[in-house]
Amino acid sequence: MAPSTDILLKQLKKRRWQLWILAFSLLLTYALCVAIIVDPTRWEKIFSLYTKQTIIILLTGLVVLSLLFCTYVVITEKRLYKLQDLVIKEQGAFLRDSTFRLSCLEKICETFNRMFASYEPGIFSKTLNEVAKLSCELFKADYASIMLVDESDNKLKTQGLFGISDETIRSAALQFGEAIAGWVVEKTEALRLNHQTDYSKFKGYFQKERYIQSALSAPLLRHNKLFGVLNITRLAPNKDFTDLDLQFLKLAIKDITFPIEHISHIKTLTEKEKKLTEDQNLVQIGKLAAGLAHDFKNIIFVASGYLEIMAGSPEFKNNLETITKITAELNKMQNIIRNLLILGRHHSLKKKEVSINDLIKNLLEPLKNKLDSQGIRVILNLDRNLSTVTADPEQLQIALINLIQNAEEAMEETSRKELTIITTVVQNNQFNITVSDTGKGIENENLPRIFDTFFSTKELGIGAGLGLSITENIINAHQGKITVESVPGQGATFSITLPR
Ligand code: ADP
Repeated sequence: MAPSTDILLKQLKKRRWQLWILAFSLLLTYALCVAIIVDPTRWEKIFSLYTKQTIIILLTGLVVLSLLFCTYVVITEKRLYKLQDLVIKEQGAFLRDSTFRLSCLEKICETFNRMFASYEPGIFSKTLNEVAKLSCELFKADYASIMLVDESDNKLKTQGLFGISDETIRSAALQFGEAIAGWVVEKTEALRLNHQTDYSKFKGYFQKERYIQSALSAPLLRHNKLFGVLNITRLAPNKDFTDLDLQFLKLAIKDITFPIEHISHIKTLTEKEKKLTEDQNLVQIGKLAAGLAHDFKNIIFVASGYLEIMAGSPEFKNNLETITKITAELNKMQNIIRNLLILGRHHSLKKKEVSINDLIKNLLEPLKNKLDSQGIRVILNLDRNLSTVTADPEQLQIALINLIQNAEEAMEETSRKELTIITTVVQNNQFNITVSDTGKGIENENLPRIFDTFFSTKELGIGAGLGLSITENIINAHQGKITVESVPGQGATFSITLPR
C-alpha cells in the first residue's frame, strides 16, 4: 500500500475521535444553555458564589478553548483534504502504471504469437532478446538478461540480452549459487536489490556491484522445473525498484516464462529434426562420397603428377608460383574428400601408443614449404613431459590438419601470420593441444555454430563446412573435448583436451 494511503487512514481514525469530542462539547454547551434558560434563578445562585471577574475569566477561557479546538479541527480537516487529493493522484498513477504494465504484457503475448506464427531461423535468440526488451519496458529498467540452464554442463548461460552489449555478460556461464542469478536459481526465489539492501546476507554468493543501482531477479519455472532466470537492472541512482515491482514481477513471471519455455521446446524439436535430416544427408553423402572418392583420388593423383613434372621442367620456370597454388588447391580438395569419406562411414578408432609431439612434428614436415611460401611462422611449444598416449594417430592427424588448414585460410589476408601449436600435460591424466592463429578470428554470432556440419562462412567451393565437425567427432570419439576462443580481428585458439 502506498505510504500516503497509510497516513490518510491514520488521520481518518483520529478525525473520528475529534468529531466525537466536538459533538460532546457542543452537546454539553447546549445542555448548559438549556439548563440556564429553564431555571435561571438556580444558576444565579451558583454564579453569585463567584466574583464577576472570575466568571468572565472562566467563560473567556471556555470560549478560547473551544475556538482553539475548532481551529485545530479545521486545520486537520484541511490537511485531510490535501492528503485525499494526494491519494487520489497516487491511485491514478498506480492505475495508469497498472494499465501500462498490463498493456505491456498484452504486447508480449501479441509479439510472441506473431513471432511463433512466422517461424524463421534464429527465432530462438530473437525471442529471448525480445523478452528481455519487453521486460525492460515493463519495469522501466536499463537492461535485462535471460539466462537459461545449459543441460550439458548445468550452468546458467546468457541467451537473451537487451540494453547492454557487455561481452562478459553475453558470454557469462554461472554455476548454481554463483552471483545474483546463481543465488536466485539455487533458492528458487525472486529477489530485489536496492541501495538499502543488506548485502551481508548474500555473503559467499555475491557482493554489491558498483554499477547496479537496483535489480530484480526471478527464477523461470514451469511445472516446478527450473530452466533459467530473468534479471532486470536499473543503473541510474535513486531509481530503486519498489516492493510493488517485485510483487508484479512474481505475478508477471508466468506470462514471461511461457514464450521462453515455448521457444526452448521449439528449439529442441527443430534441433532434433535438423539432426535427423543431417544424419540422413550424411548417409546419402557417405554413399555418394564412397562411390566418387576413388575416382577423385585418381584424378588428383594424376593432376598432381603432371604438376610435379611441370614444376621440374625449365619450360614452366616462370609459372612456379601458379603451380604451387594449384598444388595447394588440390591438397585442399584431397582434404575435403577425406573428410567426406570419414563423415559417410562410422570409423572405429584404431588406438595405439603414440607420441603426440612426434605426430605434430611429422604432420608439419610436409606442410613446411607451403606454410613458408605463405609467410606463416610456425611456433611450436611441445611439452617434453608428454610421453606416449593411447590414441588413433591417423584420426588425430586429420583433426589437426583441419585446424591447421583453417588457420592458414584465416591468415590469408592478415599482416601478422603466426601459427602456434602448444602441447601441455594437465592434471587428471589429461593432455592439451592448442592451435592458435593470428588470423581474422571468428565473429561472435558464428562461434556457437562453427562445429555444425556444413556450417561455413567461406565461399561455395572453398569451404564445405566439414572440417570442424569432423574434428569434433574425432575428439569426442577419443572421449576428449574441443573448445574455441576467438577475438574477431585478432585470431582464434582451438583447445583440445584428451585423456592420456
Ligand atoms: P570450412 O573450413 O569448410 O568452412 P570448417 O568446419 O572447417 O569448414 O569451419 C567452419 C567455419 O569456422 C569456417 O567457415 C570459418 O568461418 C570458421 N573457422 C574455423 N576455423 C577458423 C579459424 N582458425 N579462424 C577463423 N575462422 C575459423
